This record gives sequence, structure tokens and C-alpha cells, in this order.
Amino acid sequence: MEFSGVEGESEKLKAIFLPFITPSHLVPVVDIARIFAMHGVDVTIITTPENAAVFQSSVDRDASRGSSIRTHHVKLPHVPGLPEGVETINFSTSRDTASILFETLTKTLETQFPQLFHQFKPDFIVSDMFYSWSVDAAAEFGIPRLIYVGGTYFAHCAMDSLERFEPHKKVDSEDESFLIPGLPYNLQMTRSQIPERFKTPNSFSEIMNRVKESEKRSYGSLLKSFYAFEGPYEELYREIMGTKSWNVGPISSWVNRDASDKSSRGHGKEVEEGWLSWLDSKQKGSVVYVCFGSMKNNFSGTQIAEIAHGLEDCGDDFIWVVGKVDEGQSRALVEEFEKRVEASKKGYLIWGWGPQLLILEHPAVGGVVTHCGMNTVMETVDAGLPMVTWPLYAEQFFNERLLVDVLKIAVEVGAKEWKTWGDFGNEIVGREKIAMAIALLMGGGEECEEMRRRVKALSEEAKKAIMIGGSSYNSLKDVIQEMKTLKLEKLNSKVEEPVA
Ligand code: UDP
Repeated sequence: MEFSGVEGESEKLKAIFLPFITPSHLVPVVDIARIFAMHGVDVTIITTPENAAVFQSSVDRDASRGSSIRTHHVKLPHVPGLPEGVETINFSTSRDTASILFETLTKTLETQFPQLFHQFKPDFIVSDMFYSWSVDAAAEFGIPRLIYVGGTYFAHCAMDSLERFEPHKKVDSEDESFLIPGLPYNLQMTRSQIPERFKTPNSFSEIMNRVKESEKRSYGSLLKSFYAFEGPYEELYREIMGTKSWNVGPISSWVNRDASDKSSRGHGKEVEEGWLSWLDSKQKGSVVYVCFGSMKNNFSGTQIAEIAHGLEDCGDDFIWVVGKVDEGQSRALVEEFEKRVEASKKGYLIWGWGPQLLILEHPAVGGVVTHCGMNTVMETVDAGLPMVTWPLYAEQFFNERLLVDVLKIAVEVGAKEWKTWGDFGNEIVGREKIAMAIALLMGGGEECEEMRRRVKALSEEAKKAIMIGGSSYNSLKDVIQEMKTLKLEKLNSKVEEPVA
């Protein structure tokens, strides 16, 4: 049966969504919740008031257009060590606070789940990967749990291979490269580029072990990828996990159709518009956009100074979402730099949150410098722009290999050191390397043109994927239909139960 939003209340498929509290997990899970609601599912997003404020305006807009979607607030208790009102893990959250917050949130949601279940009567849940407890909660109430998995299939396959074969333990030094076996191409990495937890088990390894275990026990996984982007790795992922998975990407352009959605996405407020008139004054494809994700500035003062010089020395104009720069991180130097580049009209700095979706679609932008966070990668590919890759933490070094070696739509800056989030590490990428990578990205050579052609073709595929009949569109329809079938089977089995 074709599922639409016009069915009777009792037949309507109901879901609750449990997004995590970092911007890069909150933003896509809310987008996914919205796309389910746009396709007829009754959706309740459960989160804390501070996190809800980030996306409420989009949810309200969707509801006013007919989607059955709402937010339900969960209040965090007062806990020693957790400052009042801190509900989000972002670039200004200390590691200690992040850990207390994670624990408090997990306990609160887990404890309240039975009551939430009885209140909203969901037929299935979509849980962020970090809530591994929810696989048991869903099982207890007899409903399927879909898990939102951040990152690329490619990175998950590579990390699984590291766990299985431990090739990094067979090399003598941090910078000797080794093959990560079992993938459709010869992926070479160095030990310095892989996450610490694969070398020395730590508290994060325990969290990730629980995540993976719950991933395998989930009904299936949702990723914001699309088939043409990494199809062979999608198939391998299913084999490895022994589970189902569905693609719903690129999710950002699928749901964020109007300028208000794009402008406030991930931030809650519409941002100031100086960047727009600055970009409007630039020629088509002449500006490089520089942003290191929502956690911004995992950089020492020395590194920030090198970025500033690299941008000033490169031949192209730039827009840099610098975020927040502390005194210890050369704030005065960056302020001086800002005055110079604004006077010469060579550069524009955004000190807070950049309206990334709007910037990426501006015709003046011709390339992106990124830390390879999966959201930014998808948004950039969708916009048809080539990248300079500068991976920092999480699974970003794997994503870099996918972009540079497999898809050949990016130039690497040459970063070698994986860092723990919040730790500046030892490596300094010098201004020459930065300027050179940007020159390769923005230059008009044959190689560069080829790269541009490839990413444009992929962007076309991304657009097709979310159109009616496209791969992600069909994937969304399939998962909704499957949830619907499970619901009907459950209802039928109740009807058939013999009366005592
Ligand atoms: N983002 C944004 N403005 C900013 C910084 C980030 O809109 O100034 C958004 C970006 O569009 C993306 C997300 O925040 O959707 C960042 O996620 P990503 O996976 O790229 O990086 P992470 O935050 O995990 O490092």
C-alpha cells in the first residue's frame, strides 16, 4: 500500500526521534525527522529546550505546511559539575562538562523512555548512534529501532577492517603507511592518521564498542549518504554489520528548501548578512570558503596564524568562518588580519556561525577548505564544489581518502596527525602548504578542470537521488513502508490472538 499523510489517525505511522546534542548530529537527525514527517509519518522529536531552540522554527514552519511534527522537551536535572543551562556539546564545552552532560542526558532519556513511550505510542524510534541504551528500550516495548549513523559508509568499513585485521600494529612507526584490507580499493593510511582508540583503548573505545554492538542489533541504519557517492561501501557495510541500511542523503537540500530554513539551520537564529553583499561583489567561482565544522578551531594560536597567512598569501579571495578565537589563540593577530583583508576586499571573516548552506550555493564560491566532517562533505558535493581536505579528528582522515583517491574531487592539504577533539596536537600545517593546496583547487589547470567536472557530475547524481524515483527517495519510501508493514503485522497478530 502506498503510504501517504491522509490516513486515519489509528493507521498513521508514529515515530519518535532522539537526536544527539552536538550540532553535527542534531542538525542531520532533525532534518531526517522532518523528511519522515513530510512523507506522512507523525513525528515527535525529543530533546532539551536549548537544543530545541536550534531547530524549532523549521519544525513550526513544517507543521504550518501540513507536516505532523512537534518537539517534546525533556528537562535535565541539576547535577554537580554541570553548569545551569548547558545542554549542548559544542566548541566551547570543556571535556569534563561534555562527559557529565552526556551521562546526565543518557540517564534522563533512558529513565523517561517508558513514560515517553506511553505518551507518544511510537511504532518505531530513530535514535542517534550515541544512545546505545535505546536498542534495549525499543526491544522491551516491541518496536523497531533505527539507528542514525554519522560518517561515511567508507569510514565505517575502514574502521571495521582496522578492528578485525589490526594492520596498524604491523608497522614500525607512526608515519609508515599500511594497507587497510578488505575494501574495494587499496586504502593506504599511516598510524598517525587513525583514531587513538584503535591504538590504545580508552573511554571512547568503550562508547564506540557499545555503539557498534547496538548498531548490529538495530532493525537497520540510516545514513545521510547517497548511492552514487559510495555505493560499493554501502553494500560492504551491510555485509559487515549483517543489518539493513537506508540512505537519506543529501538530506540538507532535501528538506531545507527556503532561505529561512537554510539561514537558521544549526543555529536557531538567522545570521547577519554582511557576507552576502561581500560575496555578491565577487566574480563567479572566484572565492574559496573555509570552515572547519561546528566544533571550530581545534587549532593552536600558531596554527591559526598560519591559516591567516596562508589565506592572505593565496591568489584567491576567501570567506573564513573563524568562529570563536581566544586570546591564547592569537585573537589580536586575527583581528589585525581581518582589518587588512577587509580593506583590500580579499577576504571576509565570520566570527560566529556561518550560514553554510547559503554560502555554498552562492555562485561566487568556487571551492571549499574543509576538515572533512560528513555533513560538510555532503553539502559541498551537493553544491558541486571541489575541496581542499584538512582532516582533524573523528573519522575525517578516512573521508579524506574517499574524496581524494576514490572520487578524485579534492586536493589534500597534507595533514598527517589525527587529534583528539579539543586537543591542538603537535602538527602545524604551514602557510605554504595551505596556499599551495588552494592554488591547486582554484587554478584552472587540466587536473583541476577534471576534478570540477567529476564533482559537478556527482552533484547531478545527488540531485537525482532525492527526486521522485531517485535512490534516496526510494530508500526513504522503502524504510517507511517497512515500518508500516511491521506495524500492520503487529496489529494483525493482536487481532488474531485467541480470546481468553
Ligand atoms: N555549520 C554551519 N555553520 C558553521 C559551521 C557548521 O552551518 O559555521 C553546519 C554545517 O553546514 C554542517 C554542520 O554544521 O551541517 C557541521 O557538521 P560536519 O559534519 O561538517 O562537522 P562537525 O561539526 O562534525 O565537525
